Amino acid sequence: MTLVDGHGRVHRDLRISLTDHCNLRCTYCMPAEGVPWLPRDTLLSPVELMRIVRVGVAAGITEVRLTGGEPLLRPDIIEIVARIAALRTPDGGPLDLAITTNGIGLARLAEPLVDAGLTRVNVSIDTLHPERFRSMTRRDRHADVLAGIAAAAEAGLRPVKLNAVLMRGVNDDEAVDLLGWAISQGHELRFIEQMPLDAGHTWTRRNMVTADEIFERLATRYTLTPEGGRGAAPAERFLVDGGPARVGIIASVTRPFCGACDRLRLTADGQLRSCLFAQTESDVRTPLRAGSDDAVIEAIMHRCLAGKLPGHGINEPGFLQPARPMSAIGG
Ligand code: SAM
Ligand code: SF4
Repeated sequence: MTLVDGHGRVHRDLRISLTDHCNLRCTYCMPAEGVPWLPRDTLLSPVELMRIVRVGVAAGITEVRLTGGEPLLRPDIIEIVARIAALRTPDGGPLDLAITTNGIGLARLAEPLVDAGLTRVNVSIDTLHPERFRSMTRRDRHADVLAGIAAAAEAGLRPVKLNAVLMRGVNDDEAVDLLGWAISQGHELRFIEQMPLDAGHTWTRRNMVTADEIFERLATRYTLTPEGGRGAAPAERFLVDGGPARVGIIASVTRPFCGACDRLRLTADGQLRSCLFAQTESDVRTPLRAGSDDAVIEAIMHRCLAGKLPGHGINEPGFLQPARPMSAIGG
């Protein structure tokens, strides 16, 4: 049965966090030290993961995105991609299978990932300056990210989609430069408004760089024409100087797109979430390990979505940031 929530939204997109570990410590996501890691024995194995994905696909999931934490840190990433890529939708079509990664490791893995069936990749890059990268991510890995992006393009994952989060007084002077660089390399850049999902709960509305500000900064150098036809996609897309180059702005906070949300999330420890900002989770790992059949797993998906709220509520009084940070939910 199709995965429909209580507000009539049909769910086609399954976002899977493969790990809560990461080789960076982006300030808007993870703490510098003292991360409370998920216990190893709670992490889903590829076989367990596949049970859940298979049930989801039979119920109408057509798009799977692997994320984390840093998904390329999973030693079994190639096996996981190959297994998911081999699945077919009930009408026999392939799944749309993508990875969101910080790019470190792509120089080595881009080709094997493509061979395993990966067709799309999003790489996060917030700055063109190595020193700034080091302070934003607390690690000196800028060159590895650039090498990873180049390897992804080389391996045929074109256009490489790039994600950038701008932080006030940190890298918000780079909007134009990031876009210019992305266009010069043939990549497609999307700016994401910073959301209240950092481990330290330090997000403030005043410090967040809004979609309007990003647009204004880009408009000082480029002519941006709205593309329309956004569907369930979170990014508002614009043609740059008449095209074919494009840029996306994801205004999760100031222009939420919850009304068209088609995403269901699975954490690395087997908890289903109906929203990044959900306060509750539905445990699928325990019944799976207890030998439950597919019907039980599907019923948990429906129950999870039955509780999905109409919106994330960031802009409402009384909003509570979820207990898990972004790195443990899966962005
Ligand atoms: N490690 C991978 C990466 O960085 O691409 C995948 C996981 S990361 C959580 C997925 C995306 O979420 C990245 O593009 C990252 O910039 C974004 N992100 C993390 N914390 C965020 C926050 N507080 N607000 C907005 N985006 C955030
Ligand atoms: Fe790691 Fe991605 Fe979070 Fe940065 S945004 S700390 S790369 S999971």
